[in-house]
Amino acid sequence: MSGPLFGKLAIVTGAGSGIGRATCRVLARDGAKVIAADRNLKAAEETANEIGTDVASAAEIDVSSYESVNKTVQSIVSKFQKAPTIVVNSAGITRDGYLLKMPERDYDDVYSVNLKGTFLITQQFAKAMIANDSKGGSIINLSSIVAKMNNIGQANYAATKSGVISFTEVASKEFGKFGIRVNAILPGYINTPMVAVVPEKIKEQVKVRCPLGRLGKPEEIAEVIAFLASEKASYINGAAIEVTGGLK
Ligand code: NAP
Repeated sequence: MSGPLFGKLAIVTGAGSGIGRATCRVLARDGAKVIAADRNLKAAEETANEIGTDVASAAEIDVSSYESVNKTVQSIVSKFQKAPTIVVNSAGITRDGYLLKMPERDYDDVYSVNLKGTFLITQQFAKAMIANDSKGGSIINLSSIVAKMNNIGQANYAATKSGVISFTEVASKEFGKFGIRVNAILPGYINTPMVAVVPEKIKEQVKVRCPLGRLGKPEEIAEVIAFLASEKASYINGAAIEVTGGLK
């Protein structure tokens, strides 16, 4: 086996679907061993089985729970005898609705997964990398172009995705001295189950506004994640990279 990520161990959250699943495939293609983590264990297992259990394994995780994240870190380090040096925060949810009608629960749920989840995963896995004296860490956080477009009906989601950009920048400044790079990707509209629920009319409007005239494919985000994870991106740190087909 070879490839730019040969010898690396990666964990991808939200790996049972969409961008997370595509990322597992591409990281494994590039030579990494991959842990597909999702709150939906069956879906994570499907990802791992499809790639091949010699290079991929599945883990159940709820990124919004300290206990769940901590337990997963401990069991990974004990199983692989090292910490993953590639960490991809792809778990995310939407609970869209107009602000005046948004239930507190929908705000809290989106915050807990998208922003607090990114915090818990980043903190716990960075601690593990540092404790294991791992070299060349790369953490990649999924923000969204919605952090800049600020669509109506997405006050909760847009706020968390803006938060992910700020969080990423702070983490990149704090972790640089440990050789851990932290970057964010802002995808545009990507064809995944998350976007399947967006009304056709809105998707048509997005295509018209997008200079490439189409939605993106999960693999088109996964390829940028794989690049950021690799040594080819060794001087990219604290960046927020738009992958939108030019949609602004
Ligand atoms: P997706 O297809 O819905 O996949 C997200 C995965 O995360 C699902 O398997 C989901 O499980 C899992 N998940 C949700 N809450 C979790 C939790 N607490 N712990 C662990 N796993 C959890 O979404 P996607 O389109 O691939 O999106 C991936 C990331 O990219 C998200 O952060 C999203 O905000 C971001 N993004 C996506 C787009 C897009 O157009 N698709 C654009 C910009 C940014 P359940 O199915 O059980 O919820």
